[in-house]
Amino acid sequence: MDLVEYQGKQYFERYGLPVPPGETADTVAEAEAAAERLGYPVVVKAQVQVGGRGKAGGVKVAYSRQEVAEHAGNILGMDIKGHVVRRLWIEAATDIAKEYYASFTLDRAAKLHLAMVSARGGVDIEQVVEEDPDAIARLHVNPLDGVTLQTLRELVDLAGLDLRAQEGAAEILAKLYDCYIEGDADLVEINPLVLTTDGQVRVLDAKVTLDDDAAFRHPEWAQIADLGQIDERERLAKSKGLQYIGLNGSVGIIANGAGLAMSTLDVVNQVGGAAANFLDIGGGADSDVMANALEVINTDPNVRVILVNIFGGIVRCDDIARGILAALERVDISSQIVLRLDGTNEAEARRIIAERSSEQILSEPTMLSAARRAVELAGTPGTPGRPGTLGTPGPRGGSSE
Ligand code: GDP
Ligand code: MN
Repeated sequence: MDLVEYQGKQYFERYGLPVPPGETADTVAEAEAAAERLGYPVVVKAQVQVGGRGKAGGVKVAYSRQEVAEHAGNILGMDIKGHVVRRLWIEAATDIAKEYYASFTLDRAAKLHLAMVSARGGVDIEQVVEEDPDAIARLHVNPLDGVTLQTLRELVDLAGLDLRAQEGAAEILAKLYDCYIEGDADLVEINPLVLTTDGQVRVLDAKVTLDDDAAFRHPEWAQIADLGQIDERERLAKSKGLQYIGLNGSVGIIANGAGLAMSTLDVVNQVGGAAANFLDIGGGADSDVMANALEVINTDPNVRVILVNIFGGIVRCDDIARGILAALERVDISSQIVLRLDGTNEAEARRIIAERSSEQILSEPTMLSAARRAVELAGTPGTPGRPGTLGTPGPRGGSSE
């Protein structure tokens, strides 16, 4: 989970990092009110999940209420690299003497944590890496050992930070490491970390990526809601505990196992279609899971057909078949469903579907034939939905083979 700047700063604050005071604002009036409380000058900052906001005009210093209104009005609704700005962060402005860079992330190849510090901050760090790789001081940290303040002092010295910034920067790095480890982040990045004109070291930007696999340890993460940043479908899926990623095609996909779900996407592509999503229902596939999966896919207006691709191993195909039928009695699904069930108890599953099947469920014996059928159906615009016949026996007594 990627946090936007203000969420990252609020996360940093829990670990004692020095962040300037600020408030969120979703309207011009809220921005003005926040600025009045904070005092001038303030910085008006777009809250979107991309870097380079400054260059794009999404970060502006304002010296009066009028300037706040002007900048807030310009930045709200602005499109920054495909992200529309819906929220601002209004922050007490800082007098900057120097801009640095600092981060911790995981170096997967080295199987160690990696700290990076540079005296060339404020600019795109990838650019610094390219132009002047020596301008970045690196330190690998073994998670079993952690890192001492003394080592961090040496790191900021190696990076060439101004002498009067070094102690403050080392202390910030120590807290940043705690935040990274205890806060279960994959990345914590401060760009710029600044030396103020009066000799303080402050955090002016924050980029935090939380490790989703650690969410069970952090009930408080549920509070980190973000308006409009996450795909609506993904939000619903998440609330139902499904592994779902929204895509742009018209074939809704349900599969068990991430590998099979990805293969299904590939096969749909191969036969000329495009998947509307990735959805892995995992090991359990009872009627609840199926109903949730179908419901999530059904909220996507682009979906024309749903391809259910299940390989029965530990999970039994007959359970899946019953799950689908039960789910169809609970949720109104407007698309046709192409079903491929293979593996444990597949014969029994086919029998269950054939017995109860309506025009809505079409069984196919292989993944390839199922994908072909689905893509064919998706390609016929205006195929009428059949919400009235869900789960009820079709007039022709079944279309499966
Ligand atoms: P980014 O462009 O998305 O990385 O957004 P940043 O939060 O890093 O802001 C971009 C730049 O705006 C920074 O590198 C600073 O130069 C400038 N900036 C941000 N906050 C302040 C501030 O409080 N005072 C001043 N003078 N400049 C700021
Ligand atoms: Mn930045």
